[in-house]
Amino acid sequence: MRRLLIILLCVFVCGAAMAHSVAFNTNTHIYHDHSCIWAKRCTKNCINIDSSEAKRRGGRPCKVCGG
Ligand SMILES: [Zn+2]
Repeated sequence: MRRLLIILLCVFVCGAAMAHSVAFNTNTHIYHDHSCIWAKRCTKNCINIDSSEAKRRGGRPCKVCGG
């Protein structure tokens, strides 16, 4: 049981690291975690993409949530 929990935790952490979805502001090029207050306020210019894709587009992580 304990081993199963560790495997599940690893899958969750590794999966999150590989495909961390963020709210990318195409206007300011700042990306946010979805729990961020600025991500919630950003409805017009924000798109949901992976953090790696946001960085590739020249995005910077938000100073409040860390991206
Ligand atoms: Zn943010």
